[in-house]
Amino acid sequence: MAEIKITRTQTPKTKPHDQNKLGFGVYYTDHMFLMNYDAGQGWHDARIVPYAPIALEPSAMCLHYGQEVFEGMKAYYGVDGKVRLFRPEENMARLNLSNQRLCIPQIDEDFAVQAVKELVNADKDWIPTQDGTSLYIRPFIFATEPHVGVHPARQLLFCVILSPVGAYYPEGLNPVKIYVENSYVRAVKGGMGFTKTGGNYAASLKAQEEAQALGYTQVLWLDGVERKYIEEVGTMNVFFQIGDEVITPALQGSILGGITRKSCVALLQSWGLHVTERPISIDEVLDAHKAGTLKEAFGSGTAAVISPIGALRCNSKTLVINNGNIGALSQRLYDALTDIQWGKAEDTFGWTRVIV
Ligand SMILES: *Cc1c(COP(=O)(O)O)cnc(C)c1O
Repeated sequence: MAEIKITRTQTPKTKPHDQNKLGFGVYYTDHMFLMNYDAGQGWHDARIVPYAPIALEPSAMCLHYGQEVFEGMKAYYGVDGKVRLFRPEENMARLNLSNQRLCIPQIDEDFAVQAVKELVNADKDWIPTQDGTSLYIRPFIFATEPHVGVHPARQLLFCVILSPVGAYYPEGLNPVKIYVENSYVRAVKGGMGFTKTGGNYAASLKAQEEAQALGYTQVLWLDGVERKYIEEVGTMNVFFQIGDEVITPALQGSILGGITRKSCVALLQSWGLHVTERPISIDEVLDAHKAGTLKEAFGSGTAAVISPIGALRCNSKTLVINNGNIGALSQRLYDALTDIQWGKAEDTFGWTRVIV
């Protein structure tokens, strides 16, 4: 495995002192990981260097054609003083899946996990320790080749940056109001919906902005062809409990395969619950609500872990779910996942990696 050269900063930054006010993606640590790709040479020059602006040619291809992919993961400071990553191999496998779709050369997944571990170690003093806080890890790859012509780039940069982030729910799990989007779509089968790439987010901004103006936190995305099947909620996967079945939309190309989603499915199965990955239409949810069998709905993702849905606005109707309260299942999943992540419960699935 290639060596990672470390150049330490001579001018460490002052760390934010109030861990209650970290927010999300506001502060960055002292160092970053970089590795270049050049056609003919492959990935080379893996290094940890002081966090600093990156010089790019104005013609750098990422700025024009969006050839970019990213990941999102966290390091958790446990109650036992150990620092853990949660299923980091899954993030790097998914990064390669995104790479493949966007004609970005494959990375060595084990090496990328190693790079994250070494970077977190270099900046371990930045890992916040207060309940609910974590160190957000953002690996990303983008085309740096200076060429205003459309083709897969021959020069790219792989970068990892770290950001100490605050508790997502300082006052406990908080149900959100969701707007069922019926004009914009996020992705279609055959497109890039299953990848983590900036373009999918750019495509989602307009709907998000309009929903927020109406007082909703996020949109519920429907499929781009029939506007009928449920895909995701904002930038999270989504689950519905209808009767005794827990349903999450099947991954069919336009949905991002979340690691939190996968972990929820495994937990639900281990609890002996009936969990299915299958197409679910918005009509099925409306009918279940009418019949009184829609018990809970929630989003899942690394940032929030579990985000209970208290209300769904669909055309002119508003469905209130579980009286706008947190459901028992949402709370149970949230507790189970965060207990594993913060080292409060035994990790019987072998999901965590102690790194510091
Ligand atoms: C990252 C992401 C998710 C959640 O994935 P996790 O691995 O659980 O964090 C869901 N949907 C979209 C669109 C995403 O980008």
